[in-house]
Amino acid sequence: MDFNDTPEEAKFRSEARAFLDANLKPKLRGREPGGGGDELARSKAYQKKKADAGFSGITWPKEHGGRGLPAIFQVIFGQEEGKYEPLGGPFIIGLGMCVPTIISMGTDAQRERFVAKALNGEEIWCQLFSEPSAGSDVAAARTRAVKDGEDWIVNGQKVWTSGAHISDWGLLLVRTDPELPKHKGLTMFIVNMKDPGVEVRPIHQMSGGSNFNEVYFTDVRIADAMRVGGVGEGWKVALVTLMNERLAVGGSPGPDYAEILELARRLSGPSGQGALLQDPAFRQKLADWYVSAEGYKLGRFRTMTALSKGGVPGPESSIGKIINANRLQDITNAAIEAQDHYGIVAQDGPDGVFGDAYLWAPGLRIAGGSDEILKNIIAERVLGLPQDPRADKDVAFKDLPTGR
Ligand SMILES: Cc1cc2nc3c(=O)[nH]c(=O)nc-3n(C[C@H](O)[C@H](O)[C@H](O)COP(=O)(O)OP(=O)(O)OC[C@H]3O[C@@H](n4cnc5c(N)ncnc54)[C@H](O)[C@@H]3O)c2cc1C
Repeated sequence: MDFNDTPEEAKFRSEARAFLDANLKPKLRGREPGGGGDELARSKAYQKKKADAGFSGITWPKEHGGRGLPAIFQVIFGQEEGKYEPLGGPFIIGLGMCVPTIISMGTDAQRERFVAKALNGEEIWCQLFSEPSAGSDVAAARTRAVKDGEDWIVNGQKVWTSGAHISDWGLLLVRTDPELPKHKGLTMFIVNMKDPGVEVRPIHQMSGGSNFNEVYFTDVRIADAMRVGGVGEGWKVALVTLMNERLAVGGSPGPDYAEILELARRLSGPSGQGALLQDPAFRQKLADWYVSAEGYKLGRFRTMTALSKGGVPGPESSIGKIINANRLQDITNAAIEAQDHYGIVAQDGPDGVFGDAYLWAPGLRIAGGSDEILKNIIAERVLGLPQDPRADKDVAFKDLPTGR
């Protein structure tokens, strides 16, 4: 791959920079992507401007309001946008996962109703997959939908639903036929988060935020027209969402190599400014982080090259998520130790981002597939190693032992 911009890419980059300069403040790297109060209003206003300027849905087909450009243009916009305050948090799940699923698996009426409003920031989406006993094994979902005339009645509970408290719509995975094996009795729906019977309870996190929630469904009525894909084809639809999720959450949102190098240059102790940089053990770590960050960047270019040639996000994106989430935890841990050693415990300003990210980094290792699950995916689908034994594959879901 040629790493230099083509003339067309360079022109797009300078247009993106001009747009971002006019509309965003520079970034304080590492703050948890949020979405509440005033920040939500600013995020929505920014998303509208972004859509009006043609920088939302860059790779989406033109007939669905996108710009129909190759994936490299999305990468370029992402590189430039990443230098500014992150206001895109509330839209990551909708635009990165739910709406692309509707574009490829939904009906014309659904695309007509939902795509434009998501693109221009009017409506926010959440992903209602995980349950108390269906996280890594999301196909074990128990939330039940039963047909009632032209509608379905939903009862059950979801958990860890990011952004449910600010969402208008959710993509909901439910069990419609417990007589079938677990992957075959699932169906996907679009649910209105403001409908009667949908109760959202925020979960308080150790980072201080409350970005995810428990969501309870009590006799919630959903029209059959809100079904995405066929009855019993929910797993197929979920896989489309999950493939997009790997790309949407695989990046490196927190303080990285450049930030800890900068911290090490700034810290001054008894032996003078930059003393940490002379520490051989710390230099060794710096080298490891640099290799990991660059390796990720180049691997990502490879994925983007494949995408721009018409490929789909493949299981190799899982490698990036494992590497980035672990490096973030390692870097924030080392930064806090260094700050402690040099007598600085910063809550605010550029040094505070490490303490802040330290508290939400563990979540990144779980969200979108835990390290162990991603390692299984890499072993089976990238390296071609034998599958884990799956004793429950051909058993009716209702007959699976539950321990209850
Ligand atoms: C910040 C954050 C945001 C999230 N947002 C959403 C959201 O918006 N929507 C949503 O639906 N969900 C969301 N989740 C939920 C997330 O998808 C699940 O937490 C995740 O899939 C793990 O499921 P679990 O928590 O039930 O853990 P479990 O599946 O119970 O896993 C517990 C432990 O067992 C290990 N384990 C499980 N199965 C295996 C196996 N087969 N082999 C080896 N080890 C295994 C896991 O790696 C883990 O260490 C979010 C989670 C986090 C942390």
